[in-house]
Amino acid sequence: MNTREIAIKILCSFEKDLKLKPHFERLTKQLNFRDKSFVREISSGSVRFLKLLDFSIEKTSGKKQKKQKDVVRNGLRILAYQLFFTAVPPYAALNETVEAVKKLNRKGAGFVNAVGKKLIHFDYRKEVAKIPDEMERTATLFSFETWMVRRWKRFYEDWEKLLEGLNKTPPLFIRINRIKTTPENFAKLLKAADIEFEPHPFLPDMFRIKGRINISSIPGYREGFFYIQDPASFLAAVLLNPAPEEKILDIAAAPGGKTTAIASITKGKAKITAVDVNENRLKLLKENVRKAGFRCKILLEDITQTTSLPENHFDRILLDAPCSATGVIRRHPEGKWNKNINLIKHNQKLQKALITSAYKLLKPGGRLLYSVCSLEKEEGEENAKYAVSIGFKPAQFDIKFEGVGKVYKNTMRVFPHTDNMDGFFYAIFEK
Ligand code: SAM
Repeated sequence: MNTREIAIKILCSFEKDLKLKPHFERLTKQLNFRDKSFVREISSGSVRFLKLLDFSIEKTSGKKQKKQKDVVRNGLRILAYQLFFTAVPPYAALNETVEAVKKLNRKGAGFVNAVGKKLIHFDYRKEVAKIPDEMERTATLFSFETWMVRRWKRFYEDWEKLLEGLNKTPPLFIRINRIKTTPENFAKLLKAADIEFEPHPFLPDMFRIKGRINISSIPGYREGFFYIQDPASFLAAVLLNPAPEEKILDIAAAPGGKTTAIASITKGKAKITAVDVNENRLKLLKENVRKAGFRCKILLEDITQTTSLPENHFDRILLDAPCSATGVIRRHPEGKWNKNINLIKHNQKLQKALITSAYKLLKPGGRLLYSVCSLEKEEGEENAKYAVSIGFKPAQFDIKFEGVGKVYKNTMRVFPHTDNMDGFFYAIFEK
């Protein structure tokens, strides 16, 4: 199978369960790095701009996308994506995509060819501008569900910039592991390996890797010198401000991005307990802890039920709660299409239960850092109020970064378009 056939197959599978990663991984196993990158770009790009692509295809074909055979529908999507958003020469994109469709559905290729020729000359900006309703127009241009755009307009003044930011391909950041290296030594390793990078503007443990690169070719990959992590995710551990010898509980810890960050900050000297309810994800956490080279207690438990952990015990708790993940849509564009209001409400209930458990486990005078990779007020600000209603006291962040995020009292929000990181909410409390 060639790259475009694979991309079409990925999209056909994506339509069934609205998942992208498992299908991408299953179908690209045999590909080399270059081809894999191309398949990733056109499949996840097509998902990112799904609504705009379908609007354009329907305008040019005069037919509803829903009514097409899946190979034709998705062949047209990857074609429109290449034409609108990549540097692939239009006729090469057309010919190659028609060939790919032909292999998967011989009958559909002629139709894709005819619509494709029209798409080459289609001015989507001009056509979208004719949509009368402002919300529908913006949702189509930026390719989001209209309900999402509507609520973010209510929440955020710069909502259009936010939509634009969520559509950008995210940069690749790595966080070094201070148990095994230092920023200075790691920078030397990167230079020696001829890898282009730049240090993060205010997080010295982070480096942005420039260009496309195979992760396993970064020095120290096998030895656990670094962890792939977005700055917003690392910030949760930074804002927790853990110290060596403290008893730290990481609730909802798997796959361990923040557990390993806490260990790195404390050079492996904090007494960490990491809990998660998901066995498979906990396996990943175990592997990440092993690779990072520190010891910690790992528990498979639902922390909202009876727990084996002692009450009034921990100095600091990190609760990086399960959430609707609307803040990480840059990384997971399928997240645009698999959410609804009920999911947000359901998460909020679970988050409240987790906050209540955290209250019991934290020692008096101890600190809780609550975080979610969500843009939704229900999962952020409303839960911060809930925490106070059950006895938590709003605290001050120990660590402050000038000009970073939107800080309000004991809470902070960061965004892709203003902070060049995933969308996260943090709140700090004392018991
Ligand atoms: N902190 C992790 C990291 O940085 O790698 C990511 C955590 S993810 C946002 C949320 C996690 O919460 C999931 O791994 C999920 O299995 C876990 N979870 C959900 N409900 C839970 C519960 N009742 N008790 C413990 N963990 C739970």
